[in-house]
Amino acid sequence: MSITIITQGKDLTPWVNALKEKRPELNVRIYPEDTNREDVEFALAWNHPIGAFKKYPNLKCISSMGAGVDHILKDPELPEAAIITRITDPNLAKDMAEFTIALVMNHVRGLSSFKIAEQKQLWKPTGYLRTEDVTVGVMGVGVLGTHVARQLNKIGFKVNGWASTAKELENVEVYVGQNGLNAFLAASDILICLLPLTKETANILNKDTFRKLPEGAFIINVARGEHLVEQDLIEMIDEGHLSGASLDVFREEPLPKQHPFWEHPKINITPHIASITNPATAVSQILDNYDRLKNNEPLTGTVSLTKGY
Ligand code: NDP
Repeated sequence: MSITIITQGKDLTPWVNALKEKRPELNVRIYPEDTNREDVEFALAWNHPIGAFKKYPNLKCISSMGAGVDHILKDPELPEAAIITRITDPNLAKDMAEFTIALVMNHVRGLSSFKIAEQKQLWKPTGYLRTEDVTVGVMGVGVLGTHVARQLNKIGFKVNGWASTAKELENVEVYVGQNGLNAFLAASDILICLLPLTKETANILNKDTFRKLPEGAFIINVARGEHLVEQDLIEMIDEGHLSGASLDVFREEPLPKQHPFWEHPKINITPHIASITNPATAVSQILDNYDRLKNNEPLTGTVSLTKGY
């Protein structure tokens, strides 16, 4: 067996090095230079050229190189026999929690406004929100959202979650499905989106959703750009219903130079860096799945094609 890496525009050196370091004898191939594609049963993929998978007639596993799999599932010609897996490395959850805490704290302590004041040499003390007076709503309490919710709760915030199935999380009330959505939104002073991108969740951050949030609510989207209806966000901030947003993901990445988000004083932008897969740690799970596939054992981090995540 061998592993083929199928991506576009990604520096693969750290991945090849990490795989080779852990498994020197492994045959690592890179699309499109690879040959003998009928030998390949295991592929690593990120943002692959659509249609590339069908060139591998014997693919049994497609492993995402990150937590998301929307980039794989959007291929209309996915090999039917292939199992799709994703990275569930604990480092991803830790990094995501640290990043979202930074964004939440930036908002409650008003740090962005002090940066603007500093540029104008203005000494302008203002009040701030106390953690215990703020409720954070985490949309999607899966691998990442659960850790984010727990860590925010640890530093004093009241935290609620929203998921499609019921779950018990200590100190975190989890609202479920469409029936629980309105009450979840009504309680969220800060809304963090950590949903997977599926048919059900695309465009979920829209005007109807925003209107159900308390006046002055703040939006954090660290999931996928397609969750957000961009114009709705701008309008709801400009109307004063929302106090602002921190966005790490966008419909088009890199965010185009002429995009109105760049200039908007109440929208903070980061370039999709909330939590980056670390090849050095992620390859352990990948190689474990590679061995499991070889030994006909169940794989970890598998994705349901019906649910889309
Ligand atoms: P998981 O699949 O582990 O969790 C998804 C959560 O969303 C689950 O709680 C699930 O509910 C819930 N959910 C899914 N569909 C619905 C729905 N229709 N209604 C209500 N709840 C729903 O995902 P991860 O935590 O691993 O990752 C979340 C997303 O974070 C990724 O898909 C990716 O887009 C993004 N991400 C962003 C990164 C960045 O750097 N910006 C880095 C890594 C990931 P249930 O538990 O009931 O199934």
